[in-house]
Amino acid sequence: MSGEITMPSCSSCNRIISPSEEGVTKFSCPNCGEVLIIRCAKCRYFGNEYECPKCGFTGP
Ligand SMILES: [Zn+2]
Ligand SMILES: [Zn+2]
Repeated sequence: MSGEITMPSCSSCNRIISPSEEGVTKFSCPNCGEVLIIRCAKCRYFGNEYECPKCGFTGP
């Protein structure tokens, strides 16, 4: 067996995001641009902060 799927998780709450979940946003870190930040709809709604695992940038 090959092709292990890495499940994306929210960069704010670390919850696993299912592929069918709506309202999820993905974008590159605005500071280093090397890390893909993923935020679930809930964290967007509440404005939870995220932290870039690479450069430590935090943002809303
Ligand atoms: Zn979240
Ligand atoms: Zn970064």
